[in-house]
Amino acid sequence: MLRDLLLILFPSLCIHCGRILVGNERHLCTYCLAEIPWTHHAQQPNNIVEMRLLGRIPVQSATALLSFQKGNVTQSIVHQIKYYGATRLAHQFGRLMGEEMLSSGRFDGIDLIVPVPLHWRRQLKRGYNQSQLLCEAISEVMGKPVVSGNLYRRRYTTSQTRKNRLNRLDNMQGVFSVRHPQQFENKHILLVDDILTTGATSEACFAALSPINGIKISAAFLAVTRQ
Ligand SMILES: [Zn+2]
Repeated sequence: MLRDLLLILFPSLCIHCGRILVGNERHLCTYCLAEIPWTHHAQQPNNIVEMRLLGRIPVQSATALLSFQKGNVTQSIVHQIKYYGATRLAHQFGRLMGEEMLSSGRFDGIDLIVPVPLHWRRQLKRGYNQSQLLCEAISEVMGKPVVSGNLYRRRYTTSQTRKNRLNRLDNMQGVFSVRHPQQFENKHILLVDDILTTGATSEACFAALSPINGIKISAAFLAVTRQ
């Protein structure tokens, strides 16, 4: 908590280890940058993300940029973006997500980029949606438009973090809905979220999207837990 406050007051400290940043270092020091566990999933079919989603969600392609582990540098990145509105950090990592997908060729058919929505009450409280920030940067790189607001959260859910998998699935039933299904008809959408854990949130989004005619869904996450 104290460290997080210090980082807001002194943005020139490394968000993970707190070292003073020098030269061209932004957000992370060179040491922590070297520790980032990149997954390189974008290039790999049947990667961990696809395996976790498939069977429950027939995704076309799916990827996560980073491998999330408690205490590693990825936790600091996700945490800063999610709770402290680190917009420049979100932009930087969103662009990396976009670049990796663009160069893989596996995401070439995408028409629209769609953030996993927050409930309006949570977004009002937080002031932003971290998935939306990632989408905007991905959009810059991939040249596809972001559509937010069409897929929306109609129910406020309590925090997922202390629930087991079954409770999470239960908690997510009927949470999402689509306002104008025709906007997504015959479109290949890229669903974007900050972190993939059990896949309950993605599954709930898919339940709302899948009845739409001709829709195809791919998914991109900033990070994936190892489980
Ligand atoms: Zn550091």
